[in-house]
Amino acid sequence: MIELKHVSKTYKSKKATNTIALKDISIKFPEKGMIFILGKSGSGKSTLLNVIGGLDKYDNGEVIINGKSTKEFKETDWDAYRNTYIGFIFQEFNLIEDYSVEQNINLALELQHKKGSDEEIEKILNMVDLAEISKRKTNELSGGQKQRVAIARALIKNPEIVIADEPTGNLDSSTGEQIWNILKNISKEKLVIVVSHDEESASKYADRTIKLQDGTIVSDDNPIENEIKTNQFCLKKAKLPFHHSLNLAIKSMLTKKASLLLNSIIVALCFVFFGITLSTSWSNLNERTLDLFEENTKTSVSLSKYSHVIDYEKNFPDDSDLQIIDDSTLAEIEQNTGLNWYKEYTIDSLDLCENTFDYIPLNNSNDIPVYYNPATSINSFKYVELEENNQIKNLIGSTPKSENEIVIPSYIADYMIYSGINAKISPNDNSETIVFKPTNYNDLINNDKYFKLCDSIYVKIVGIIDDSEELSKYSNFKTETYYDYQVKTDENELKKYNELVEFVDREESKVYVCEKFIDKLNKEKVNFARLSSKLLYNNENAYPTRIAYINKDTTIYTNNGAETINDLAENEIIITDDMLNAFCKYEYASNYYSTFNISYLDASTDNKSQYLVSYLKNHNIIGSTIDLNVKDGKIVTDSYSSYIIKGVIIGEQSFEYTNGLYAVTDDGNSETIYCSKNVVMPFIRNNAQLFNISTRISTKEDFSKVLEYCPILNSNLIVTSYYSDKVANAYAEARGFGIILKYATIVFAIFSAMILIDFVQKCVKSSKKKIGTLRALGCSSIDVIKIFLYESFSVMLLPLIISIIVLPILIRKLNLLMINFRIVEIDMLSFGLFNVLQLLGFMIIIVLLSNILLVGKTTKMKPIDAILNK
Ligand code: ADP
Ligand code: MG
Repeated sequence: MIELKHVSKTYKSKKATNTIALKDISIKFPEKGMIFILGKSGSGKSTLLNVIGGLDKYDNGEVIINGKSTKEFKETDWDAYRNTYIGFIFQEFNLIEDYSVEQNINLALELQHKKGSDEEIEKILNMVDLAEISKRKTNELSGGQKQRVAIARALIKNPEIVIADEPTGNLDSSTGEQIWNILKNISKEKLVIVVSHDEESASKYADRTIKLQDGTIVSDDNPIENEIKTNQFCLKKAKLPFHHSLNLAIKSMLTKKASLLLNSIIVALCFVFFGITLSTSWSNLNERTLDLFEENTKTSVSLSKYSHVIDYEKNFPDDSDLQIIDDSTLAEIEQNTGLNWYKEYTIDSLDLCENTFDYIPLNNSNDIPVYYNPATSINSFKYVELEENNQIKNLIGSTPKSENEIVIPSYIADYMIYSGINAKISPNDNSETIVFKPTNYNDLINNDKYFKLCDSIYVKIVGIIDDSEELSKYSNFKTETYYDYQVKTDENELKKYNELVEFVDREESKVYVCEKFIDKLNKEKVNFARLSSKLLYNNENAYPTRIAYINKDTTIYTNNGAETINDLAENEIIITDDMLNAFCKYEYASNYYSTFNISYLDASTDNKSQYLVSYLKNHNIIGSTIDLNVKDGKIVTDSYSSYIIKGVIIGEQSFEYTNGLYAVTDDGNSETIYCSKNVVMPFIRNNAQLFNISTRISTKEDFSKVLEYCPILNSNLIVTSYYSDKVANAYAEARGFGIILKYATIVFAIFSAMILIDFVQKCVKSSKKKIGTLRALGCSSIDVIKIFLYESFSVMLLPLIISIIVLPILIRKLNLLMINFRIVEIDMLSFGLFNVLQLLGFMIIIVLLSNILLVGKTTKMKPIDAILNK
């Protein structure tokens, strides 16, 4: 049935000399019978047996089973070979120690895809006399009992060959007898090959005795000369059923309870930290915003366009990067959001005009009801363009139709009613100013009075956007004075007040106008532009914030005294005396003081000009060059253009702030430089700029449509609203924290992975013998890896569950803590289903990773080496 032809095997050793364990062995085995292989220790008996059993490889020659050569066998064929043909009995028993007798036998059976019937198992158990102790754990059995379990396990597979390597080596002689008798019995039906050095037993039980010496057969008392009988060759692959893999995994895990506990704690900690890290992943800023925005709450949402994508982690929105929203952009936004957006113009109020109404000043600000307090801080309106036939909701009165007509929000109307307002009876600046005290909204709409708005523009109020429903939330503030309020510390009231401030700032600081109003504003051209540029003079820096051209006769000072000019050449520049002061390190103003004993500030223009001219003469300033970082209508950071200083203007800017030493600019205070019109013109923009569009949102769906098109992160269309601002602010505040956590995530991921890998490796090490046993039974290495896979999953599962329970609680606490310490305003961390999935994914990746590292190791391991724990 099985035949070896010229088989040899050498153990190669790197350190010592190679050992030739088998030399040219040729031998045939019959179908049944008890065959003893005898020989001295080291003669090659075990090696021969292992080669026959497929536990070890041979180098040369051929092993033929049922006529089939095993020469070309792959690893999986060997697995199947062991499973199909061989039943092993070892000197060390090699049972699954944590399994009961029955389970050990069942395992062997199930590897054959068979479910053993109770009778079948009982029959085998009776045969080896174990029926009574079938439920006992094998590690509680005596050696003889264990060996009988091993025999039963070998037999239940119904193999053609049973091989036993010194099966009685660990047993006393009477127990040994018992084992020999059982094996002898078996050999009546099967081939039993036994390795032993016990000649006495051989003479008693052997049907044939083969003697080995130094790897060669030195005697064989019953060699087979003829052809041997062959059965049909067929290999059955073993398959370890899931419940066994799992059971083995859990059992193996539980044998290392202390280590398991420690690992579980550390892994759980890693998961918790990792979970916190995940909870700051701000990928869901949009959802956060929508969560804050509750159904049916109204909010006003603005959009601004920036020249680049804003990613809060790297850059923040900066006004200088704002871009004008043109009609095509607006159309695109309307199409994508399905909402109507209003154009919301901003006016550079500091430069153009006093950009608010001429209210009657309130005497004692402490007596003002809290409700009106936010109004005092509105110093620039946004101008919303309303089309003539706009069906705007909540409108009392009519839409504006001419450049002199406006609609105001009800909060401003309330304030006008409260304070009174200066008015004129014609839109003409020369007419007489009268005090107007409206008592209700109707008074404001139906009167013949004009109100000053943008310096030169006088307007009639033709309508009011009625937000009184929204504002009624804050009506209790109408009876409380600001003074009362200031001494109060009620958190809820403070929160409500902040909400009012926000609402007024975003919604009630708008004036609604028609296109003609905007056109009128834009007709008024100014001669300066805002820009934050950089000046260099003798290596001194200054930062002028305005650039202007001369558009009327202007007095400048040079070495020759005063001079009147109305134009500049393209390479000429005029600076102010403040700037000059800065360039000479403030010596200019302090010299003045020491010369005249009065401050430069207090000096008359005549005195200043005389001093200036003499200073210029002595210091060679006129005609020297100054560098400015503007070029072709752009501010450039890397190159400068040189300008010749043509003269100095005695500026309106005073020295008052820093005691005669205040000068220009380091602090970014507005300071003007004068260049030719050609240099300045590219910087001059319309007075009314369309940097914003806005809409009122009343449903979550609408809001989510906006956020879908203009997400809070990584967009160049920036949404601002009460809710998105809160989220963006919290994000900005928590940015540093988030970055730290990002790295913490990586560290914890690596840490958890290392712990798990270490744990699994330990499992493998301590289970090496078990692996060998399973392999000997015919399990493939993949099946063995599966056990460790389940084992590592089970190790991770408990910590995962713990962390999923702990995390939401912990995160709620952390959120409260951060809000209480005023680090952020809203819940910064959130832990949802998505994060649970992330954790799960993380776990799976680590488990797979740690097991992938094992695949190579386990598959390369020869079954015999595993059994011998090499
Ligand atoms: P026996 O079972 O007859 O005592 P073995 O078959 O175990 O002998 O060993 C045969 C020879 O091969 C011995 O010299 C032994 O030292 C050597 N040998 C056995 N296994 C290994 C191994 N894994 N690596 C190196 N040498 C080995
Ligand atoms: Mg041996």
